[in-house]
Amino acid sequence: MLSNAEIGIDLGTANILVYSKNKGITLNEPSVVAIDTVTKNVLAVGKEAKDMIGKTPGRIVAIRPLKDGVIADYDITTDMLKHIMRKAAKKMGFSMRKPNVVVCTPSGSTSVERRAIHDAVRNAGAKKIHLIEEPVAAAVGAGLPVDEPVANVIVDIGGGTTEVAIISFGGVVACHSIRVAGDRLDDDIVQHVRKEYNVLIGERTAENIKMEIGYALVDHEEQFMDIRGRDLVTGLPKTVTLSSYEIQKAMKEALLQILEAIRATLEDCPAELSGDIVDRGVILTGGGALLKGMEEWLSKEIVVPVHLAPSPLESVAIGTGKALQYIHKLQQAIK
Ligand code: ADP
Ligand code: MG
Repeated sequence: MLSNAEIGIDLGTANILVYSKNKGITLNEPSVVAIDTVTKNVLAVGKEAKDMIGKTPGRIVAIRPLKDGVIADYDITTDMLKHIMRKAAKKMGFSMRKPNVVVCTPSGSTSVERRAIHDAVRNAGAKKIHLIEEPVAAAVGAGLPVDEPVANVIVDIGGGTTEVAIISFGGVVACHSIRVAGDRLDDDIVQHVRKEYNVLIGERTAENIKMEIGYALVDHEEQFMDIRGRDLVTGLPKTVTLSSYEIQKAMKEALLQILEAIRATLEDCPAELSGDIVDRGVILTGGGALLKGMEEWLSKEIVVPVHLAPSPLESVAIGTGKALQYIHKLQQAIK
């Protein structure tokens, strides 16, 4: 076949994934770039760069150019995309031809931000570019019948943003996007440890704590974890034992904001679709959905069934890749 390769890119705030119809997920790397601030050279992208966060000497900084869900640094985002697309191309063997790309945009993004994503992908070497709204991609990837006139409710808890959307007949009928998600939970843990113990920990350590002993607001058996940080009084390394109870309390406010966004979206649902939500429930996706107890807590709070998508970290990427098949039915959502 002479046509250009078709790939889907999930340009996430925490992770970038590339999906191709034939090969599935071909690349999955943290959205992190390590830069030499003096020469402005990109030193590393992806996992290698993430491992440098908080550990580099002064002139090297590890940057997350999409941290809050939109492109904060355009040039670095373009550089990151170039690296990622080159790496994916090598793996897929389409290096000779410019790929057609479907890339997702956060539902709360402005037309200027969408234009920036479009241009960054073009500058990174794509031929044809389609943008798809992230919740629609997540729903397609989770296998929901987005092209039917039924309510599909999707909650995507990523690194920088939580997106809640009701999708019916190929379009978004109600949505809320908030800048409270996984990163905020990590921040809250950093603040808690600083305030309670006078110990400073890095964001990587905080993320590990969240994954190991973090629970949504559900009852559970108390767990403990030893962590190391810098004592702010003596300046020396110190070990602290943390309980899952205190971590839960530290994350409480942010979790309640996520719940509020879901409630607000359900309240915006057209009456004719409300019945579907009760029958079909809410689908959770994104890495934040993997927090222990999330399904159980949310279903208790909103009194609607809540299900975890089959591969929460991959739904959006799979959806962007598959969206091309739906392109005619999803006219409203794909530009
Ligand atoms: P994005 O789409 O914004 O790139 P992802 O969907 O890749 O984000 O999710 C990344 C977020 O999910 C991070 O905040 C990460 O800490 C969180 N995460 C990943 N695995 C888990 C887990 N097992 N428990 C809690 N949070 C998790
Ligand atoms: Mg995402």
